[in-house]
Amino acid sequence: MTTARGGDRGVVERVAKLAREVFAARADGYDRRAAFPQEDFDDLFAAGVLGAAVPREYGGLGFGPHRRNTLPLWEITTSLATADLSLARCWEGHANCLTLIDALGTEEQKGRWFAGVVERGEKWAGWSGEPQASRHGEKRSFGTTLTPVDGGWTVRGSKAFATGATGAQWAVLLVDADGPGGARHAGGTGAGLMLLACDLSDPTVTVDGSWWDPIGMRATVSHVVRFDDTFVPREHLIGDPGSYFAGQWQTAFTPHYAASFLGAAEAVFTYAVAYLRHQHKSGDPYVQQRVGDMAVDLDTARLWLRHVAELWDSGERAGARIAGSRARHVIEHLTERTVRHCVRACGARSLMRPGPVERVLRDLTFYQRHDNDDHIVAMIGREVLGEQHDPSFHRP
Ligand SMILES: Cc1cc2nc3c(=O)[nH]c(=O)nc-3n(C[C@H](O)[C@H](O)[C@H](O)COP(=O)(O)OP(=O)(O)OC[C@H]3O[C@@H](n4cnc5c(N)ncnc54)[C@H](O)[C@@H]3O)c2cc1C
Repeated sequence: MTTARGGDRGVVERVAKLAREVFAARADGYDRRAAFPQEDFDDLFAAGVLGAAVPREYGGLGFGPHRRNTLPLWEITTSLATADLSLARCWEGHANCLTLIDALGTEEQKGRWFAGVVERGEKWAGWSGEPQASRHGEKRSFGTTLTPVDGGWTVRGSKAFATGATGAQWAVLLVDADGPGGARHAGGTGAGLMLLACDLSDPTVTVDGSWWDPIGMRATVSHVVRFDDTFVPREHLIGDPGSYFAGQWQTAFTPHYAASFLGAAEAVFTYAVAYLRHQHKSGDPYVQQRVGDMAVDLDTARLWLRHVAELWDSGERAGARIAGSRARHVIEHLTERTVRHCVRACGARSLMRPGPVERVLRDLTFYQRHDNDDHIVAMIGREVLGEQHDPSFHRP
């Protein structure tokens, strides 16, 4: 299957080689230590890829939906996920923030922050996570409040699921002037939602490492982060209040998650084929059937992503938004099936370390809860029926 175009192909292949030959071997260690994949990011910076979603005029590669050159970005993400799904999640967050700055930022902001990425290897993270319903037995609550002060705002409170908390230098904070909830968990219209660039070296920003102990995606270090009246200057406001919802920017990132799911499934598929050949089981008709199913499922997932990328690149944003959710939905199920086929064809020992399958199974189980698939398909149904629908967060 042909993929990225022209010179972009070389970059995508360089990353695929790094993922295969270097990053895959590190994934188990990051997972066991629940450690941010710092060395992988150092290598991406050294390879000139950290600014993949930075426009070319600012020294980057100009990839991504806003630049109408979407597929190379998503293919890089898929490659990273073949090695380590946590790495891909941290990468997505970084790239998505750069896309937002490109789309909504001022020239001064772009000049300053893109130079940090391209010249100094700075990494970004995007933090909304303020779930309002507490977990059963959980005493703490999450949420931030914003206070206007001279020259900017102060942020007070906490965010959970702060991917890259111990690795990023900057975070785009999605904070609602109308009260706690961020973008995803606020009840209102989102008109007061602001995107604030926060310098994470500020001593009022602290990471609470006691909360993050999940089944998978451990190396995303998606800790709780606390803001103790953190001052954010007015010049760090990206776009106007409300522009995240008005521009439906979350829809540009929904298929990006699916690009990661696909990479994890590709890793499992490659492993399964090698494992089954090694065990001389290629002649077993049930094995053949499962391998055939996996191969077609992965083709289907790739075709969906390419279709959505083409819609973004052709400027058909309304179609791209809905197609992105459809792709996210279908790819979740295709990748789940791939892992199930692998385990059933290969057996129990395929779920033992040091093979990657048990980690992928844990990671996908957790990561696919990032959005609620029931809500996604219901949103698609509402769109088909001509009902009001929310393509950003699929809220009923
Ligand atoms: C690996 C990983 C990394 C993440 N990284 C980031 C990040 O970097 N930045 C960030 O901002 N967020 C991040 N998230 C958080 C994510 O965006 C969600 O906020 C988080 O997954 C919600 O957790 P939950 O499912 O426990 O919570 P809840 O939001 O409480 O959801 C529980 C379930 O209830 C459903 N639900 C919620 N509200 C309602 C309702 N009103 N009616 C009916 N059903 C409802 C949900 O859809 C879900 O299925 C990450 C999540 C994961 C898994």
